[in-house]
This record gives sequence, C-alpha cells and structure tokens, in this order.
Amino acid sequence: MADQSGSLDRIRLQRAAFEAAANVPDPEIPVVTVNDLGILRSVELDTAGRAVAKLTPTYSGCPAVVAIELAVEAALREAGFEPVIERVISPAWTTDWITPEGREKLREYGIAPPVSGSNSKLALFGETSVSCPKCGSSDTERVSEFGSTPCKAHYRCSACREPFDYFKCI
Ligand SMILES: [Zn+2]
Repeated sequence: MADQSGSLDRIRLQRAAFEAAANVPDPEIPVVTVNDLGILRSVELDTAGRAVAKLTPTYSGCPAVVAIELAVEAALREAGFEPVIERVISPAWTTDWITPEGREKLREYGIAPPVSGSNSKLALFGETSVSCPKCGSSDTERVSEFGSTPCKAHYRCSACREPFDYFKCI
C-alpha cells in the first residue's frame, strides 16, 4: 500500500481530477455534464499518478460515447493529468443514475427527464404518461419513437400544444 505522507495531496489531486472530468458537457445535451448524467463513475489516481476515469456509456450504440471519452481525456490532460479512460459496461447505465440536478437541467432545457425506476421501460414503449417539461401537464402524446437523437422520443403536449423531447435511454 502507498505510504500515508502524501495522502492529503493525493486526495486533493484526485478531487481536482474528478472536477475536471465531471465538468465535461454531454455532446448531445450540453446543458448537462457527464456527472449530471451519471456517465462518469469515478476518477482515481493510480500508483503511477495517472488519472483513471471510469465511464459507463448510456448505451453501447450511442455515437456520443467516443466523443465523451475523448472530451474527458482532453479535460484531464488540460488539468495537468495523464489520463486513462476506462469504459465500464457492467453494471449497465440506467436513467436512475441521472442526478436530481441533471433532471432539473433537462427540464429547464425543455427535455422531459426520464421516468425513474421500472417505469422507464414502460415509457420507452409509450405506455406511461410523460409530463410536459413546459407546462407540467401529463396530457401528452408520443409523436415518434425517435426525437432529435436516438436517445430521445418526440412528444407533443395536448395542453399547451408544445412539442418536446423525452429522454428515453434506459
Ligand atoms: Zn405543455
């Protein structure tokens, strides 16, 4: 095990590395960070002092995965760390990992945040009510299974007639 003398520095450095990685915005929805979405699992310094960032992609086919990894790598390097990116696919990411702050940011951006828990699977098939991010009405209808990206379904609110995206990745 490492000696204790440098442990405070180590904690401070580790925190700096985490902050640098955590502030990376999602390439598809720039109002939320990789930390808000729960994609960033951890950042730890290894024995060689490299910053090892563990990332879990929202889903394996998501084209944003590589972009996110490159962005986190660049952010760590810019903060003075030698980055190591590890893709962790188990346990699989779920929308439950999106932080409360991340959900709020999505709503403000006009994207209905995912229904949490087991309901998210129902939401994917349009079998649960999705609240309008603009007026809060649950009287909404799914227009298309795919919104502006494959991660989102396109909905329209029957109350205020506004179209919106529902973040459906599970
Ligand atoms: Zn509405």
